[in-house]
Amino acid sequence: MIPLAEARALIAENISPLPPQLAALEMAFGRVLREDICADADLPAFDRSAMDGYAVALDDNSEKFHIVGEIQPGVEAEIKIQRGECVRIFTGAQIPAGASQVLMQESVQTQDGFIIPSPRSRTTHIRQRGEDARKGDLLLKSGTRLGAGELALLASLGAVSPKISPPVRVAHFTTGNELVPPSATPGQGQIRDSNSTLVGAFVRQFGAEISRQETVPDDFELLREEVERDGDNFDLLLVSGGASVGDYDFGKKLLNVLGFKIHFEKISLRPGKPLVFATRGEQAAFILPGNPVSHFVTLHVAVRQALEKFSGVNAAWPPLKSRLAEDFEFRPDARETYWPARSEIQNGELVVRALRWQSSGDVTGLTGANALIQFAGGATEPKAGDAVSILLLEVP
Ligand code: AMP
Ligand code: MG
Repeated sequence: MIPLAEARALIAENISPLPPQLAALEMAFGRVLREDICADADLPAFDRSAMDGYAVALDDNSEKFHIVGEIQPGVEAEIKIQRGECVRIFTGAQIPAGASQVLMQESVQTQDGFIIPSPRSRTTHIRQRGEDARKGDLLLKSGTRLGAGELALLASLGAVSPKISPPVRVAHFTTGNELVPPSATPGQGQIRDSNSTLVGAFVRQFGAEISRQETVPDDFELLREEVERDGDNFDLLLVSGGASVGDYDFGKKLLNVLGFKIHFEKISLRPGKPLVFATRGEQAAFILPGNPVSHFVTLHVAVRQALEKFSGVNAAWPPLKSRLAEDFEFRPDARETYWPARSEIQNGELVVRALRWQSSGDVTGLTGANALIQFAGGATEPKAGDAVSILLLEVP
């Protein structure tokens, strides 16, 4: 049994980022950039006005200025102004030669083709060429996840086909004779399969895609056939159930037969002890314990690490300090524990409530889960108001 930190390190060490591909900018939202992006020119590329007003020379102290032209945004400033002259100018328009200040239209009077400034300040109201970035400056680093702001920057640089990580292809097989599809009515002793839906949503949340998803009975040969049929058509294989030591748990055997190398098969983790991780060439696999709560936790603390590493991100994901909003029935354990929880902002502070978790089979306790409270092995029952460490899954 190894600690979770060691397991996470093994996952990161044994997975390589997928080869990047060029993608259209519209397809890049939420994906990971795989090249450094530098400014190909000064940003902005020319001095431009930050106000509607009149462009003059900063050191021209004339009483009044003759309006010799007008410059709209989007056109080249062809005029050159002399002493005692100004041009009408608008926000975003190019500053003409000879000008070095824009007087706001609110602070001048106009009279017979002239402007008369009220007392002037030294503020230029000009966005200088290269003020935002200089040509060659590193603007985005490889490994950055692309959100709205990053995409807007790529657009302004004309980087319309950035090099990004492809979505990780996840093949998911759920095992269990007791499982029926969510649409079916379970017979005696049967339950609906909720893990396929859980895994599907989780995978999508982290920019990966389900390439194949099947439910298979507890039959080793059937499972083997199904997985082998997929050959190399996945990056990550997830098998739900079959991770522990029950007679029908054959996950490890499956990985061995398929030529995977097992890196760990047990973690000192509650829930989720019997988690198996293996690789075969560039492919990786997890056998996840079938309990829904174990599933939820191992997906977030281990599988997510694999998805991010495939995408070229080294997930650090540091814990955050929070405060326990209320007491709950804590069950001490020698293993490190990740307790599903709901964090909320209360009076500007992050507080957290443990969700109901009697056994790992509970499914109702996962609704609203946006955090995991982290307890060291052997931790004693915490009290309302105690400081606790949490892993934030989503910002509340
Ligand atoms: P296993 O890891 O296969 O021993 O399963 C542990 C527990 O989780 C058992 O109670 C299973 O019935 C339950 N379980 C397994 N797979 C699923 C699933 N896909 N959906 C909901 N519960 C499951
Ligand atoms: Mg099972």
